[in-house]
Amino acid sequence: MDSGVNKNWSSGDEKLLLDTIDHWVENEVKPIAREHDQEDKYPEELVERMKELGLFGSTISPEYGGLGLPASIYAKIVTRLSSVWIVPGGIFNTHLVMAAAIERCGMEAQKQEWLPKMASGELRGGIALTEPDAGTDLQSIRTRADRNEKGYLLNGTKMWITNALHGNCLMVLAKTDLTAQPAHRGMSAFLCHKGAGYDVAKKLKKMGYRAIDTCELTLDNKQVVPEALLGGEEGRGLQQVLGGLELGRINVAARGAGMAEGALKMAVRYAQERETFGKPIAEHQAIQLKLADMATKVEASKLLVESAATKLDTGQRCDMEAGMAKYFASEAGVYCAQEAMRIFGGNSYSTEYEIERFYRDSMLMCIGEGTNELQQIIVAKQLIQRNKI
Ligand SMILES: Cc1cc2nc3c(=O)[nH]c(=O)nc-3n(C[C@H](O)[C@H](O)[C@H](O)COP(=O)(O)OP(=O)(O)OC[C@H]3O[C@@H](n4cnc5c(N)ncnc54)[C@H](O)[C@@H]3O)c2cc1C
Repeated sequence: MDSGVNKNWSSGDEKLLLDTIDHWVENEVKPIAREHDQEDKYPEELVERMKELGLFGSTISPEYGGLGLPASIYAKIVTRLSSVWIVPGGIFNTHLVMAAAIERCGMEAQKQEWLPKMASGELRGGIALTEPDAGTDLQSIRTRADRNEKGYLLNGTKMWITNALHGNCLMVLAKTDLTAQPAHRGMSAFLCHKGAGYDVAKKLKKMGYRAIDTCELTLDNKQVVPEALLGGEEGRGLQQVLGGLELGRINVAARGAGMAEGALKMAVRYAQERETFGKPIAEHQAIQLKLADMATKVEASKLLVESAATKLDTGQRCDMEAGMAKYFASEAGVYCAQEAMRIFGGNSYSTEYEIERFYRDSMLMCIGEGTNELQQIIVAKQLIQRNKI
């Protein structure tokens, strides 16, 4: 497997980049997170900065204008960002999953047409897989792509599509053959610009992960050209899409690890500030046990993310490792946010404190890019396949 990354990032380059990210996160992301979350307001100003920082091209190869970051460095950026706010990483995550699919499966002309503009952020995309009646079971999608003289006509409804409103393109999974058995042989992926026939039916109201646009999308006689078919061959869409999800799962794992770390940092600080019975609560053993469990899960999450990312970077199969990292780190995010809520006591319920946002945001990481139940199934199947007797 060619991950398409530039292997020449020195440790000096890495440090410089991560220092720049830390500075940006502390000075530009942290101060606006709460307001944007509370007002469910899209962070336009961060998008412009993310373009300048090259984040929309993080994992796109330099020959197509990207930074060509290895997944291991990319994951560290995502963890740092998510320790403060997960939303900005969401803006470039599914965008990069789409780009990775194009780089891995696209024809050269498709790569030339899409990747440089995606790397600069001029094109900002996402993936449109889920439908009202099909999420985990993608083979039961109903969106169809019918061939006509101008290419394909897309019709259907997609649900929970991140970046559908503020982005300007999507990779859409649709059925080109409704009768194919197994169904995935009749599924194809299309690179689709916004425009006539692409209607955002509504921006969904969410308990967390606010400020980013997650939408219901209607494709109503959306005409695409023949060159929109990824890889130029019908029937390969599901494999093309699922192959790219490993990077997406490492990203979600890194976000879970980041949220776990952010919640831990807040809890360690608060436990030293808040006093009960004449001493800081950090001196009560019950609180110490919580902090120790949280810190252990944070460290384990980061190591699992690094292990999966290193495998991806070195071209090794990593579906099991990415699944483990996604499963463990996202659960760690939920666990640490919940434990931090307990440590903050009544104040955890106040929107004056950031921890309630972590609590609301963290559960999403257990659902997105394949639910954790699905990750467990992937891990178990791989375990058996790799250890056949
Ligand atoms: C905020 C947000 C953003 C999203 N962004 C996107 C996006 O950009 N693009 C996109 O395409 N989708 C997106 N999604 C959709 C997300 O990927 C799906 O919600 C997810 O894949 C689960 O699908 P579902 O909701 O249909 O759940 P279902 O598939 O209905 O699953 C329901 C429950 O059944 C379990 N389950 C299902 N099948 C099995 C099985 N075989 N064995 C055991 N348990 C099983 C699941 O684990 C889950 O617990 C987003 C979702 C949210 C909430």
